[in-house]
Amino acid sequence: MKPIILLGSGAREHAMAAKLTRDGASVQVVPGNAGIPNSHPGLDPLDFAALAAYARHQGVRLIVVGPEAPLAAGVADYFAGTDIQVFGPTKAGALLESSKVWSKDFMRRHGVATAQAWAFRSDEVAAARAQAAALGGQVVVKYDGLAAGKGVYVCGSPAEAAAALDDLQAHYTGAFSFLLEERLTGPEISIIGLTDGHEMKLLATSQDHKQLLANDEGPNTGGMGAYCPVPFADADVLADIQRDIVEPTLRGLQAEPFEFRGFLYFGIMLTPTGPKLLEYNVRLGDPEAEVLLPAMDSSLLALVEATLDGTLARQVVRQRPGAFVGVVLASGGYPVSGFPTGFPITGLEKLPAGVEAFHGATRRNTEGQLVTNGGRVLVLSAQGPTLAAATALAYEAAALVAFQDKYVRPDIAQRPAPVLTQRAVN
Ligand code: AMP
Repeated sequence: MKPIILLGSGAREHAMAAKLTRDGASVQVVPGNAGIPNSHPGLDPLDFAALAAYARHQGVRLIVVGPEAPLAAGVADYFAGTDIQVFGPTKAGALLESSKVWSKDFMRRHGVATAQAWAFRSDEVAAARAQAAALGGQVVVKYDGLAAGKGVYVCGSPAEAAAALDDLQAHYTGAFSFLLEERLTGPEISIIGLTDGHEMKLLATSQDHKQLLANDEGPNTGGMGAYCPVPFADADVLADIQRDIVEPTLRGLQAEPFEFRGFLYFGIMLTPTGPKLLEYNVRLGDPEAEVLLPAMDSSLLALVEATLDGTLARQVVRQRPGAFVGVVLASGGYPVSGFPTGFPITGLEKLPAGVEAFHGATRRNTEGQLVTNGGRVLVLSAQGPTLAAATALAYEAAALVAFQDKYVRPDIAQRPAPVLTQRAVN
């Protein structure tokens, strides 16, 4: 069995650990959580020297990275040139996610279809306000750095844009940069691939549900649920995405001086003038991973190894049939901070066949009981022959698991099918 260290502590990492274990790996998770086997809560994924010592002691030669923080902190750079390989980009590659301004420049340099945008520094807010007014306030304001899903303001009027710019100034002190983008319209989908900078192997299309409440209302969260594959992302849509987004990105990765080996996430809007890239992430999405990995028939371990040894071109990604729906069981009060946790979780032993439970924010209390430990507590991921069947099964499972103040968004995977107005203009 191939020994692997997996970095991270959420439901995404639980899904990654489960898949890699099914594929034949022996997975140690740093730090992991109460529900992930072989977790190491005493190890810090950002203490690279300690990680190296642990890896050598365990005879591990492969580290797979779940979240963006260790990548942005340079875990791949730290181990470059050693006998330990890291699946995930270097700090320079991670800029595709960690800097919106840098990322937008990359898209423009390499002809990736995306929204028009203007970059400003924090002392240029007056110029940004004028630019936003000139665009009728139909703009999106984006803080430049990692903001954990916050830091993006979608505006519909000059007054909203002005308020967004005020809010940005109030929240971020010191010198910073931000983007002002034209506001696009259309349904959003995510596509995640594995890439070695030359080849790209795409997983299924997926959609997440960022807002807390039904009908995409309420505050943004880390994600309340996801499903795959997306029925309206048909072969024509995928061909447009391949031509206008994936291929220019690969040409860009080859032209840039940094190497990129890991997951690359494309957040895409299907606009009336074709697909446009909203953002890159340099990792699997959470909760997208919790449906994409159960949906994968191919070995993730084989794909990861092929990405690192330059044989990705020979790999094929096969999907399991049917549909996959993941619903998040959250703590009441999330995403606003200060909500109570520590409530016992019951019912996990009652889950029906076809459902996997991935632990996010759980822990064991002093009596050894499993209790809530944060906002997104569990993700229940269900497989069914159709999207409707998988959705029904996921909600049936969600009703069986109980803890005080449990909140489940009621309409995951139930968005009405959009009407796609026009394909990309060739
Ligand atoms: P980002 O972090 O850049 O993906 O932005 C977060 C969310 O803001 C996206 O998932 C979209 O819902 C929305 N968004 C970002 N950019 C745009 C845009 N140019 N037009 C409309 N909505 C956008």
